[in-house]
Amino acid sequence: MGLAFEEARTLILENITALGVERVHLLNAAGRVLAEDVAAPWDLPRWDNSAMDGYAVRAADCHGPHALRVTGYLPAGGRADGLEVTAGTAVKIMTGAPIPVGCDAVVPVEETEAAGDEVLIKAAVATGDHIRFHGEDVRVGSLAVPAGTVLGPPEINMLATFSQVFVTVIRRPRVAILSTGDELVELGDTAGAGQIVNSNSLSLAIAVQEAGGEPLLLGIARDNVASLREKLAQGLTADALITSAGVSAGDCDLVRDVLAELGVQQLFWKIDIKPGRPTAFGLKGKTPVFSLPGNPVSTMVTFENFVRPALLKMMGRRHVLRPLLRATLREPAQKKPGRVHFMRVTVTVEDGRLSVASSGDQNTGILQTMLRANAIAILPADRASFEAGEEVMVQLLDTPAL
Ligand code: AMP
Ligand code: MG
Repeated sequence: MGLAFEEARTLILENITALGVERVHLLNAAGRVLAEDVAAPWDLPRWDNSAMDGYAVRAADCHGPHALRVTGYLPAGGRADGLEVTAGTAVKIMTGAPIPVGCDAVVPVEETEAAGDEVLIKAAVATGDHIRFHGEDVRVGSLAVPAGTVLGPPEINMLATFSQVFVTVIRRPRVAILSTGDELVELGDTAGAGQIVNSNSLSLAIAVQEAGGEPLLLGIARDNVASLREKLAQGLTADALITSAGVSAGDCDLVRDVLAELGVQQLFWKIDIKPGRPTAFGLKGKTPVFSLPGNPVSTMVTFENFVRPALLKMMGRRHVLRPLLRATLREPAQKKPGRVHFMRVTVTVEDGRLSVASSGDQNTGILQTMLRANAIAILPADRASFEAGEEVMVQLLDTPAL
C-alpha cells in the first residue's frame, strides 16, 4: 500500500514554502506574484475628463433640441485652462480631455449636428453624462494591487498607469532536472541496441517552463552510485530537484538510496495511483526533491499532479491546483479498484457541457494516447467500472480552445 493521492499531494504542499523576492521590470512581471502592496500614488482618473468625443455642455441648457455656440476645442492631452462653458455655449471635446469649468455633461458627437460655429444638441442631457470623475476608479493611497496578486495584463496595466517601472515579485524557482538510466542517450545522439533517447528531460524542462520555473538540465546519471552521487549533489544546489526513473523496486533503482546518503529526508515513496505509483518525495532542508518514475506518461502525469502545484506554491501562488470539472462519460470505463486512475481523455463541449471519452490505450507505456488527450479524468480508487452517462471529474490540461 502506498499513500492516497490527496494525502501525498497535501504532504508535498505542506512542505513547500514561497521563495524570496526580486525586483523585475514590469515587462518581465507577467505571471509572477507581486510581493509588495502597491498603493496608488495619485487618484485615477487624475482629473474629471470626457468619456466620449463630443461637446462639453451645461446640462441645464439641453432640454430638447437646442443650438449652442461652440467657443473652444479640447483635444486629449489638451489643457482646460482659460476655457469655460457658459450659458448657451459648448466646447468641442475629445475622449480623455479634461472637463472645462462650467461643464457638467458631455454630449456624444453622434447626438449632435454641427452648423458653422454652432452645434445642435438633439438628445436630452442629464448632469454627469459621459464624464469620468476624478478618483472614481482608484483613490490616492488606496491599495491598487495587493501583495499576493498574480500579475496579468489588467494588473500590469494598473501598475503601468502608475508608472511603476520595477516591481517586487517572488522569484522563479531554478529547477534541476536529472534523468537516470544506463539505457539513455542524449537528444540528437544515435540510440544503439537497447538504448533510448532521454526524452523525459525535454518534456520536464518544458513543463517546468510552462509552470513559470527555470529548468536546469543536468543530463543523465547512470545507474551506479558514483554517477548518481555526483549529479544528485549538483541538483540539490537548485531550488528544487526533479529526477526521472530509477525509483521502482529493480536492482538498478538506486535514486532513493543515493538521495538518502546525500541527506535527503524521504517523506514518502509510492502513491496509490496509476500511472505513477513509485513516485517518491523528499526534502533536503527546504529543497524539495521529486523522484518521478521513468515511463514518459508516468513522468508527465506525476509532474502535473505533484510537481506543478509545488512549483506554483514556491512562486507564491495561492491557487495551485487546476480546477476539477464534472464531465459526462461518452463510453463505459473500467479499472481495477485500489488506486486512483489518471485516465487520458479527450474532452469536448456540447451545449456548454463537458463530455469525455478515453483517448485510447491506457497502458503506461503508450505515449500516443497522452498526445491525443486534452484532459485527465481522475477515477476514484474505490471504483472499478463506470457507465456511459456517468459523471467523472476531469482536469483540463493546457487547453486554449475546445
Ligand atoms: P525505470 O523507472 O528506471 O524502471 O524506467 C521505466 C521506463 O521508463 C523504462 O522503460 C525506461 O527506459 C523509461 N525511461 C527511463 N528514463 C527515461 C527517459 N529519461 N526518457 C524516456 N524514457 C525513459
Ligand atoms: Mg531505470
